Amino acid sequence: MRIRKVLSVLIIAAAIFSSSCCSNNEKQSTQKAKNVILLIGDGMGPAQVYSLIMTSHEKTAFQRFPYSGFSITKSASNEITDSAAGGSAVANGNKTKNYMVGMTSDSIPVPSMLDIFAEQGKKTGVVVTCAVTHATPASFIAHNINRKNNEEIALEISNRENLNVLFGGGKKYFTERKDKQDLLNKMWDNGWNIYDSLSQIEDNNAKTMVLTCNKHMVKAPDRGDFLPKATAKAIEMLDNEKGFFLMIEGSQIDFAGHANDSATLVEEMRDFNNTLNVVLDFAEKDGNTLVVVTADHETGGLTLIDPDRKYTRTDFKFSTTSHSAVFVPVFAYGPQAARFSGIQDNTEIFNKIMTIAN
Ligand code: MG
Ligand code: ZN
Repeated sequence: MRIRKVLSVLIIAAAIFSSSCCSNNEKQSTQKAKNVILLIGDGMGPAQVYSLIMTSHEKTAFQRFPYSGFSITKSASNEITDSAAGGSAVANGNKTKNYMVGMTSDSIPVPSMLDIFAEQGKKTGVVVTCAVTHATPASFIAHNINRKNNEEIALEISNRENLNVLFGGGKKYFTERKDKQDLLNKMWDNGWNIYDSLSQIEDNNAKTMVLTCNKHMVKAPDRGDFLPKATAKAIEMLDNEKGFFLMIEGSQIDFAGHANDSATLVEEMRDFNNTLNVVLDFAEKDGNTLVVVTADHETGGLTLIDPDRKYTRTDFKFSTTSHSAVFVPVFAYGPQAARFSGIQDNTEIFNKIMTIAN
């Protein structure tokens, strides 16, 4: 008698558990995302993420993500990609040659996910700590045969109509140009508000560009909390009933890797982590936002080693001042985030985001 009672309670509990479990799974597998926030840690391989976890007293933002996987970063031309081909593969779903932005390997311009979302009526934005013409942002907002053509990329950006928010550096490519044009004046005439600090923004609805410096911003922690603050401001400006797409780059994780500077690397990771927390806090409240974090490639060939075979110390060891071929992590939160589990090509990140947000 008692056994039967216990059994029936168990069966009811199992039924309740399985139904709530299945309906959640179902919701997870079909819910479309209204907003997409993509964060790229330039040069952020597994060891870069672990270096943050290892030196943090609190749980990191990376550990808040329910799903993670890996991305294979090689380009159409090289096993080891640069940021142009690595960023473009994620931005538009095509493998291209190193140095090319927003184009196929046959030099045909292709729309990025930002271009497509803008076309569909979503608001769009880009937030970086480097020049806004640099390879990663350019992969989303420009199309050029060579990432080094900063002035051409600035010209293309100045002619864009469907970009709402652009925060970063790189003023000189708009004002100190070989063709003597002042692109900032032209953009003002075309309805842009342009400032040199976030605090000057008055109208959240106007197309707004903030260029804080001539080229790249100073490294962390010297630039303060620009990236998390700019991210919060961009989300506030972009959030609307049709949804938005925002790309945020931890641009200088890569710079610290090239410099083999472990102290700065950890500071850059901490700054990116603070930014991730801002994004996740919004996404949790919103409930309709897909958040994807990945890298374009790893920089520095970083490992965390036992230098004397005694297991008493952990040292940072870089094996190169260039990029490496190792796969990079992917973290996902929000509608259909489970799709980003496993090992995927960087181009699949584009395909998955487009499927989930359309
Ligand atoms: Mg970059
Ligand atoms: Zn690099």
